Amino acid sequence: MRVMTDPERATKILLTEAEMPRQWYNLLADLPTPPPPVLHPGTLQPVGPDDLSPLFPMALILQEVATDRYVDIPEEVLDVYRLWRPSPLFRAHRLEKALGTPAKIFYKYEGVSPAGSHKPNTAVPQAYYNAQAGITRLTTETGAGQWGTSLAFACAQYGLDCEIWQVRASYDQKPYRKIMIETFGGTVHPSPSELTNAGRAILAANPDSPGSLGIAISEAVEVAAQDPNTNYALGSVLNHVLLHQTIIGEEALRQFAQIGMTPDVIVGCTGGGSNFGGLTFPFLREKLAGRMDPVIRAVEPASCPSLTKGVYAYDFGDTAGMTPLMKMHTLGHDFIPDPIHAGGLRYHGMSPLISHVYELGLIEAVAKSQQDCFAAGVQFARTEGIVPAPEPTHALAACVDEALRCKETGEEKVILTALCGHGHLDLAAYGAYLAGDLVDHELSRDEIAEFVAALPAVPA
Ligand SMILES: *Cc1c(COP(=O)(O)O)cnc(C)c1O
Repeated sequence: MRVMTDPERATKILLTEAEMPRQWYNLLADLPTPPPPVLHPGTLQPVGPDDLSPLFPMALILQEVATDRYVDIPEEVLDVYRLWRPSPLFRAHRLEKALGTPAKIFYKYEGVSPAGSHKPNTAVPQAYYNAQAGITRLTTETGAGQWGTSLAFACAQYGLDCEIWQVRASYDQKPYRKIMIETFGGTVHPSPSELTNAGRAILAANPDSPGSLGIAISEAVEVAAQDPNTNYALGSVLNHVLLHQTIIGEEALRQFAQIGMTPDVIVGCTGGGSNFGGLTFPFLREKLAGRMDPVIRAVEPASCPSLTKGVYAYDFGDTAGMTPLMKMHTLGHDFIPDPIHAGGLRYHGMSPLISHVYELGLIEAVAKSQQDCFAAGVQFARTEGIVPAPEPTHALAACVDEALRCKETGEEKVILTALCGHGHLDLAAYGAYLAGDLVDHELSRDEIAEFVAALPAVPA
C-alpha cells in the first residue's frame, strides 16, 4: 500500500521504476514554426541523411529530423536507465527557510547517475544505437569531463571502445575526470593534440593553446570521419541529444502531479542547452497546449553569454569548420572562452532548437557572474547538503533571485530547477571561491564583435 505524504511537507518526491516514462518527447511536433534547416558547409543546401552518415548511425540521424511527438525508448536503454532512474525531485525546504521566502523551490537531481550528471541520459542511447549499427568505436570531445565520463560508461555497457579529446585547460585542472574515464575503459587525449590535422594546425599557431570545445570537436570528428567502424557522439546541442534528455522533464511532470502542484517558474543552466531542454520541453508542451503557464528561463555565464549577447546566425559547431552550419545564438566558432570554472558552459554556440524557441519568445534568458553563482552554490550546499556542479549553480543563483523577489511581493510561487550534476570532482573551483581567488570576466559586445564578424556568409 502506498501512503501519501502531505504534499506540503514532502522532501523527496519519488517515482517507482514501473512509473518511469517509456517515451522521449519531441518538441518539434508542437512548435508553431520549424527551426531553420541545418546546411551543408560546402553547398549551403540543407543536409540530408547521407551527409551525416559518416559520423552518426541512421537511427540517430532519423531522430535528429523526426517530427513524431513521442519516440519509444528501447528496452535495452530502459534497462540501463534503471541503474539511477527515475531520479528524485527534491523540495528545498531548508534553502527556502534560509532565504525567508514564501516561494516553494524544487530541484530535479540528476547527480545520482553514474557520471554524476544528466549526460548519461543521452550517452546510453547514443552508445546503444551505434552498437546496434555495428560500430566498434566512438570518439568525442569533453570539456569539464562530464560528457567524456558519461560516454565512457555508456560504451562499457555495450562493449564499444571510447576515445576522448579533452579541452587542455580542463585536462590540466581536473585530473580526476581522466582517471574516472579510464576506470570506465575510455582513452583521453588533451586537445589540441598532435594526433589530428585540426590539432596540429592549432598547435603550430599557438603551442600553449588552452583548447576549446570547438577545437576538441574538430579533432574527434576528423578521426571518426576517417574510419568506417568509428562514429562520433555529441553530448549536447543537437536535437536528438535534447530529445533523450526529455526523460528529466517527463519524470518531473509525473512527480508534480503526485503532489498536485505545477511550477510557475522553471530555471535551468545552459551550455549547449541539453539539460535545460530536457527539463523544460515537456513543460513547454503543456504551456503550448494551454494546460499550464510557467515562465521558462535559461541561465548562462556572463563570461560566455551566447543567448544574451551572441548573434543569431549560421555558424559551425566546431573551430576548424568541419561540421554542418547551424542557425544558433553564437559567439563565433573561433571564440576561446576564459578558463572559467563552469567548464560545461563554455561552448561558443547554443542548441539550434533552444535558439529557435528563444527567438519565438517562448523562453527568457539571463546571464550571471561566477561570484553570484558560487555564492548560491555554497548556500545550497550548506542548506540542502549537496555540493552542486559549477554549472547548475547558475540556475541556483537565478532561483535565489526569484525566491527573494517572492519575499518582497509575498508571492508563493512554485520554482523548479534542474540540479543537473554534483560538484565532487569540481572541488578545486570551490576552493578558489572560498579562498577569494575566483577570476571572473563579464564578456562585452565589443569583445565578441571580432569573432562574429568572421562568421561564414550564408545567403538569406
Ligand atoms: C555538460 C554539462 C552542462 C552543460 O551542458 P548542457 O547541454 O547545457 O546541459 C551543464 N551541467 C552539467 C553538470 C554538465 O555536465
